[in-house]
Amino acid sequence: MPTPRMQDATTMFDAVVIGAGIQGAGVAQALAAEGFNVALVEQAGHAAAQTSSKSSKLIHGGLRYLETAELSLVRECLHERQTLTRIAPSLVSLKPFYIPVYRGQKRSAFWVHAGLLLYRFLGGGACRKHTLAKAAQLGLNTRNLQALFEYQDAQTDDVKLTCAVVKSAEKLGATIAFNFDVVACQRLAAGYCVKAADGRRLQAGAIINAAGAAINRVAQFDSSWPTVAIDLVQGSHLILDYPAPAGCIYTESPDDGRAVFLLPWYGKLMVGTTELSRGSNPDLNAVTEQERAYLLRVVAHALCDVNLEELTVLDAFSGLRVLPKESQSAAMNKKARDTRLVHQLSTQHQYLAIYGGKLTAYRATAQKVVAKLKPFLPPCHPKHSTAQLPLT
Ligand SMILES: Cc1cc2nc3c(=O)[nH]c(=O)nc-3n(C[C@H](O)[C@H](O)[C@H](O)COP(=O)(O)OP(=O)(O)OC[C@H]3O[C@@H](n4cnc5c(N)ncnc54)[C@H](O)[C@@H]3O)c2cc1C
Repeated sequence: MPTPRMQDATTMFDAVVIGAGIQGAGVAQALAAEGFNVALVEQAGHAAAQTSSKSSKLIHGGLRYLETAELSLVRECLHERQTLTRIAPSLVSLKPFYIPVYRGQKRSAFWVHAGLLLYRFLGGGACRKHTLAKAAQLGLNTRNLQALFEYQDAQTDDVKLTCAVVKSAEKLGATIAFNFDVVACQRLAAGYCVKAADGRRLQAGAIINAAGAAINRVAQFDSSWPTVAIDLVQGSHLILDYPAPAGCIYTESPDDGRAVFLLPWYGKLMVGTTELSRGSNPDLNAVTEQERAYLLRVVAHALCDVNLEELTVLDAFSGLRVLPKESQSAAMNKKARDTRLVHQLSTQHQYLAIYGGKLTAYRATAQKVVAKLKPFLPPCHPKHSTAQLPLT
């Protein structure tokens, strides 16, 4: 990672982005591509320190969002999948995804097939039905298996992708500062003075709050800034000492019918995710014993010949989804995965916060942020389009 160059309060940035997760990195890159003088600050010593290293690592339309009729989200994400496989082929690649359908499970073969056809219609690509012999080849449990479907989606390494976007932002002229833990944002006559815990400070016209699960902590730095009440929902993954499957498997938990992925991950098997409500405290974030047991039961259910006693958990990690509180009226697994931009914009002060979002749609989100801010920022000349900038 590049060494931070920014130190002094006299530098006036057009914008400062707080948080070098995928959303903050994406906004810094997009603002720099538009020709703005932007700083990206991060409390950790590197990018992707929080949720952006704890995702399921999928660049996908979100097949299950079809169940909640979030068609525009799915379409946008599929479009972004196409862009990312083009500009970042070494980081984002299409993989075969398999959906086994068992007798008595929540989603029937008819339902799954209909969903896949709609996914294809929205730009997801071809899907097909396999014979059950293919399931045995993949090492899937074939007892009570009724059907096996295949479709396409993409996998990435979330940390490498985020670092590549940060690198691109820096190449475009953005200033990157790690170990910059923002503890205050003081309103000036025009713009803000942003202060770090170690005494460093900088000035900027606009503040973009991309602090992920800590978003409302940062939002408290100025009592006039608008906020949205949130629920943080923990999702956990395990990496198991078990050979990687020859594709991504999308199955149902035998406990509650939730959709869970079994994914190849650097030669091993990764399984996730769970959904555990954590209230609004971003510091509550650790894999529980119940989550481990839940995920191991999914593995034993989906794969044949798995002896849980002999299975070693190599790693376990959890991340926090930011969901607006009102979405909790629906079940946690439903709705409102979409991003919400909350802002207070004037010619003297610009504040914008990014609530929620998807790794997949980070570039589209960044475009929306730029579109909101641009009328309030100094005029400048766009240098590049992020849809054309290669990521490595
Ligand atoms: C379990 C799980 C699985 C997911 N899987 C997928 C998936 O497969 N595909 C997909 O598209 N999406 C997925 N998502 C969604 C996606 O991962 C997140 O939306 C995304 O990573 C959030 O990025 P972010 O930049 O908003 O937050 P973060 O990555 O958390 O970044 C916020 C950053 O802000 C920093 N920060 C906080 N406070 C301060 C401060 N005061 N000063 C300076 N820095 C600060 C933090 O250190 C952190 O680095 C998943 C989410 C979860 C929880």
